[in-house]
Amino acid sequence: MAVDPELLDILVCPLCKVSVKLTPDGEGLKCAQCHRVYPIRDDIPVMLIDEARIEE
Ligand SMILES: [Zn+2]
Repeated sequence: MAVDPELLDILVCPLCKVSVKLTPDGEGLKCAQCHRVYPIRDDIPVMLIDEARIEE
């Protein structure tokens, strides 16, 4: 995974304002509160509600 760990520390869900966690496959960032997974494209986390998918 190529996303900077320090960047991950400061990323928050734009909806809940809580920190997100990298998914096991390393291809998304998940919010534990609303269960949205934000995609990572070209190593850039896309923190947009419209781009997120909801996972249970
Ligand atoms: Zn959230």
